Amino acid sequence: MATNGNSKGDDARRHQEVGHKSLLQSDALYQYILETSVYPREPEPMKELREVTAKHPWNIMTTSADEGQFLNMLLKLINAKNTMEIGVYTGYSLLATALAIPDDGKILAMDINKENYELGLPIIEKAGLAHKIEFREGSALPVLDQMIQDENYHGTFDFIFVDADKDNYLNYHKRLIDLVKVGGLIGYDNTLWNGSVVAPPDAPMRKYVRYYRDFVLELNKALAVDPRIEICMLPIGDGITLCRRIS
Ligand code: SAM
Ligand code: CA
Repeated sequence: MATNGNSKGDDARRHQEVGHKSLLQSDALYQYILETSVYPREPEPMKELREVTAKHPWNIMTTSADEGQFLNMLLKLINAKNTMEIGVYTGYSLLATALAIPDDGKILAMDINKENYELGLPIIEKAGLAHKIEFREGSALPVLDQMIQDENYHGTFDFIFVDADKDNYLNYHKRLIDLVKVGGLIGYDNTLWNGSVVAPPDAPMRKYVRYYRDFVLELNKALAVDPRIEICMLPIGDGITLCRRIS
């Protein structure tokens, strides 16, 4: 996070507050990562979208630039072609995905809010990537239920990024495990939930952090014992748990 001209004391307090985004030891360290290896290599459309998103009132929801860089590399490493994203907002992680997959790759992207997607869409179009995206406006769960009814969708996704309503993550998991291919990946985002997963119950917490915390804790427990997947929980962004389907 940028220091925003705050005094050192303010930064230290902010850093300790539950609900602050960076999970690293210090803001300076996080800034170092961004300035040394993320911003100088950030593709121009991602930079443009990040700047547009920064002006939006809900910008706290966006995927961070370091996580965007990570997703982009991960998708290339696994040769992802057929992908899904639940929770698009203005499209930063969507763009990281669209840039990583081949020209005939696909992203089924779902969000209840189309307006925010349309903020980023001109940038995605200008980059010549819109043809890879099928955007569905609305709740993701009914769409997943429909896909589950059709055997043709089973085991077809190389990568699925889940970054929407945390109280539904387990409901998503029940369905996605059949839709992702064996050897494919599901990434659940925000699984360290602003660090609140280890906060004492009486710790000061923003209302939404407190509300979703129990759902995130429940998800983390369930993923840890699910024999159908291998998992890896990474402290990037707000925590992402990668689940590789093995059966
Ligand atoms: N991945 C995005 C990015 O890189 O900027 C951030 C997504 S934001 C954290 C969460 C999004 O999930 C919001 O845009 C919200 O409208 C969407 N959302 C909330 N509930 C949803 C649901 N039931 N189905 C689909 N999308 C939902
Ligand atoms: Ca997120």
